[in-house]
Amino acid sequence: GNKNINAKLVLLGDVGAGKSSLVLRFVKGQFVEFQESTIGAAFFSQTVAVNDATVKFEIWDTAGQERYHSLAPMYYRGAAAAIIVYDITNQASFERAKKWVQELQAQGNPNMVMALAGNKSDLLDGRKVAPEASIYPSPLLFESYEAQTYAQENGLFFMETSAKTATNVNDIFYEIAKRLPRL
Ligand code: GDP
Ligand code: MG
Repeated sequence: GNKNINAKLVLLGDVGAGKSSLVLRFVKGQFVEFQESTIGAAFFSQTVAVNDATVKFEIWDTAGQERYHSLAPMYYRGAAAAIIVYDITNQASFERAKKWVQELQAQGNPNMVMALAGNKSDLLDGRKVAPEASIYPSPLLFESYEAQTYAQENGLFFMETSAKTATNVNDIFYEIAKRLPRL
């Protein structure tokens, strides 16, 4: 029969990577160019139907600032899933994402479903068509290759997303819903 699953999900990642924008897109189908910075954390919920289950995500959108770091365990502890977000145009945000993965591997729920989201993929597309990209290899393309490899080696699944265009936003939550353990 069809199961109802409640799943706590946390979004982690650098300030400005687009965590709040991904949640806003997923929960309300909206995007704003000037998304306000998250203070502390914000809570949302949204339901996704997969073949054999209805998953109600209880979503914690965290702030990402270093000064709120000590609060993070409150949000990832007991979480069934995490989306670690970086901005594909910002190498430092990718390095920060790896730190979050390490922290979750050390302190998080060992069965946690982890997704790595390379967000702002609309900007990558913009650069792919730029003439320089055909002359010089794009560092952004290397980065996404690197992210895919990193995700595979660390047991995450990887998707490039765009909160702006909605590309892969529902999909990443849907993929998580499919991977959650069935009780
Ligand atoms: P957070 O700090 O991780 O929550 O990031 P925000 O959701 O506040 O987004 C930071 C900025 O990036 C905002 O100005 C957003 O409008 C912008 N942004 C977020 N996602 C995208 C995206 O997919 N594409 C583009 N082009 N901009 C985005
Ligand atoms: Mg935010």
